[in-house]
Amino acid sequence: MTTQFETVIGLEVHVELKTKTKIFCGCSTQFGAPPNTNVCPVCMGHPGTLPVLNREAVELALKAALALNCRINQDCKFDRKNYFYPDLPKGYQISQYDQPIGEDGWVEIDVNGERKRIGIVRVHLEEDAGKSMHAPDGSHSLVDYNRTGVPLIEIVSKPDIRSPEEARLYLEAIRSIMQYCDVSDCRMEEGSLRCDANISLRPVGETKFGEKTELKNINSFRFVQKALEYEVQRQTEVLSSGGRVEQETRRFDEATQTTVSMRTKEEAHDYRYFPEPDLVRLRVDDAWLARVREGLPELPLQKRDRYEREFNLPAYDAGVLTSDIGVATYFEAVVAAGADPKAASNWVMTDVLGYVNAQGLSIQEAPVSPSHLAGLITEVNKGTISIKQARDVFKIMCETGKDAPTVIREHGFEQISDEGALAAIIDEVIANNPKSVQDYLNGKEKALGALVGQTMKATKGRANPAVVNKMILERIGK
Ligand SMILES: [Zn+2]
Repeated sequence: MTTQFETVIGLEVHVELKTKTKIFCGCSTQFGAPPNTNVCPVCMGHPGTLPVLNREAVELALKAALALNCRINQDCKFDRKNYFYPDLPKGYQISQYDQPIGEDGWVEIDVNGERKRIGIVRVHLEEDAGKSMHAPDGSHSLVDYNRTGVPLIEIVSKPDIRSPEEARLYLEAIRSIMQYCDVSDCRMEEGSLRCDANISLRPVGETKFGEKTELKNINSFRFVQKALEYEVQRQTEVLSSGGRVEQETRRFDEATQTTVSMRTKEEAHDYRYFPEPDLVRLRVDDAWLARVREGLPELPLQKRDRYEREFNLPAYDAGVLTSDIGVATYFEAVVAAGADPKAASNWVMTDVLGYVNAQGLSIQEAPVSPSHLAGLITEVNKGTISIKQARDVFKIMCETGKDAPTVIREHGFEQISDEGALAAIIDEVIANNPKSVQDYLNGKEKALGALVGQTMKATKGRANPAVVNKMILERIGK
């Protein structure tokens, strides 16, 4: 008999906050500056310097913790986490240990059409470390301290995640919420969103946790799922053959698509936490908390529910449109400009996103503005152009930036609905296709399509198909 295993996953997500300056000094947080240009004695931890807490960083952390449904510790403190690493010039990191700013929250994800709640243990504020770069031949290493002291929040989930797919959905939900709240730009490729995962397996029905491994520094949404899928397979094999999973830290190797061991428990750190003596306790008064709470935007899932309710959109559409705040904002602007919501949804999800993704643009950079797209949808509704023509008009709008009526006029896209203008063409089609006419009269429905097709061809696709249909039927007497 083979044992069935249950997967238990917890994620630790680091999110860089979108402040202009660092958490304890006035240095810029700008990404991509020349190495070691955004540094000062405070963030380098020189003796005699003192940290000064950045109010904006606290405000963003509060916003994030509230959006994650956390209880806020209005009275909390900072602690020193002591360890030595070349990218940490002070020899300690200022973090929060036993009194984080937010605790006991949750995030909801949609798994196979069902909504599932993932618990959040804590959200705490801390400073980022620098960045080491190692020469490929191992001859030397370089350290860039620009990132040292950039404000971070760490979001620690409960071990509520049951599959690699759920882990990816959870991470996507976190990113989406952080972007909606404008707390972080969450660019994984720039390191402003990073993820560590704990994963263990246990026999189904067992309540105790199995021995876990920690996967460090996963840097893409795809890799989160892949690395965890590999770990599930690896741990299943170990346990099925009667072995024991070793508690260790592993990393995902992109080249081999496997995880490899970095260090075992024996080398684990003892951080010797103690309260940071250079900072007073952090107190968030009621008025401040209330103001941040009132400033929270409509969050992705709320927006999604509203789209289904208010715009009568299918759940799939609502999910795609709200997963990114930029897409949601664009879509709402198209509807506000007068377009039918379902038509607007179809255009945004297929043509607009298709175009901007292919061009490597964000939706804010789309060459067709929301009002121009609404204008195009209106032309289709009025019957000026067919939906097929509209796709060609859209392409020209993307290239020229012109609005729909202008493109239609300049390129002669108007649909011909005028019976007088179509009569001669239809008479000719009927005269030239006696077999199709006879087939139709003998009951072959499809033959009508051939006649409509000939008319469309003769008008270069501009004839209104509904009018053509009606006129042919009138003429062949049925
Ligand atoms: Zn500094």
